[in-house]
Amino acid sequence: MVKSMLNGQCYCGISLPYSECCGSLIGGVQVAQQPEQLMRSRYSAFCTGNIDYLVATLHPEMRRQDDREVLQNTIANTHWNRLKVIATSLQSPVKGEVEFVVFYGSTAQEQMHELSRFVKENGRWYYLDGEMFNHHSLGRNELCWCGENKKLKHCHRTS
Ligand SMILES: [Zn+2]
Ligand SMILES: [Zn+2]
Repeated sequence: MVKSMLNGQCYCGISLPYSECCGSLIGGVQVAQQPEQLMRSRYSAFCTGNIDYLVATLHPEMRRQDDREVLQNTIANTHWNRLKVIATSLQSPVKGEVEFVVFYGSTAQEQMHELSRFVKENGRWYYLDGEMFNHHSLGRNELCWCGENKKLKHCHRTS
């Protein structure tokens, strides 16, 4: 499902209008300067159903015939609640990793906790692949997984 626009906040959770954050990367006004920026913009592209951008930012060697179909299905069947970036690291100027969690359902358990790898080629960062991790638990004082701008302890406290 395409996510509805948040109030003055980009889909990726940063407190900037979409057009000044991921929108400028997705719209081709800017290119991602580091892996986290690319990762965030790919999440926003999932939220807005921008398959072209998702394919364009996937490393050419990782592209498959059925990418568009798979992406279309994922987007149609997923409710994008919230992205939480846990850690970012650069192994070299052309190699980086981002660990994140995406919450996509009606419980905190419906989440994808992944370490994504990125490479830079010809001045552009690309998503290479990812490794799945175990369930990630949010702290009481963190923003709730449901996408509301409320702390967990004031929102879905019991789940
Ligand atoms: Zn953003
Ligand atoms: Zn909540």
